[in-house]
Amino acid sequence: MITRTLIVGAGGLGGPIAFALGAAKHELTIVDHDSVEVSNLHRQIQYTALDLGEPKAARLAGEVVARGGTARGVVQQWSPEVADELGADVDLIVDASDHPTTKFGVADWAVANGRTYVIAAALRYGGNVFAGAPGVACYRCLFEDPTDAPTCAEAGVLGPVVGAIGGVAAALALGLANGDRTYAGALLAFDDLRKLAEPRVVRFAPRRDCPACARAPISPFAAQPVRVAENA
Ligand SMILES: [Zn+2]
Repeated sequence: MITRTLIVGAGGLGGPIAFALGAAKHELTIVDHDSVEVSNLHRQIQYTALDLGEPKAARLAGEVVARGGTARGVVQQWSPEVADELGADVDLIVDASDHPTTKFGVADWAVANGRTYVIAAALRYGGNVFAGAPGVACYRCLFEDPTDAPTCAEAGVLGPVVGAIGGVAAALALGLANGDRTYAGALLAFDDLRKLAEPRVVRFAPRRDCPACARAPISPFAAQPVRVAENA
């Protein structure tokens, strides 16, 4: 069965995620409205100086196709309306953006539409990856609302960190697409990859007053045991 996957963001996280899922024969739609800038090249290693000024979504899709995959780039800013348009036949949605409001928007859209999803974030020396699926606690159950945390563009990120976090996100996405729910509803948090490569695995119960879960077609309250942090 072909998995149709929507990747939001074609930057440092989106690059390795797209290459891994494209190689695994997912049919990719890659959404990003940005163009390649010289300040991106240290961490967005799918691009070279030849790509400067080019739209990232189109260039990354081109690189996936050049490697034998199937991908199309959509040069547009992601929004729930765009997701309704692009996501009608999508099985899996992966957030690789650099914007907290986009991450919550992607998670909320996935929960409301009963899709599996992965939310990846990297900043400075670490990052985290959330694996979402119908019937378990959602991204908003844990984080509640976007904070005004700085973005990579503002606070910086160590180049290899986005590769490592992107690889974890791709691995969890492949697992979810194959029906592996080992980490469904869990957050893998990497505090500082210079010091420790093992994640803290944070599992949590669905939140009773979560507005996203209230709209979910499959309730996370049906059969979820309460679980707390595994090795925090
Ligand atoms: Zn929730």
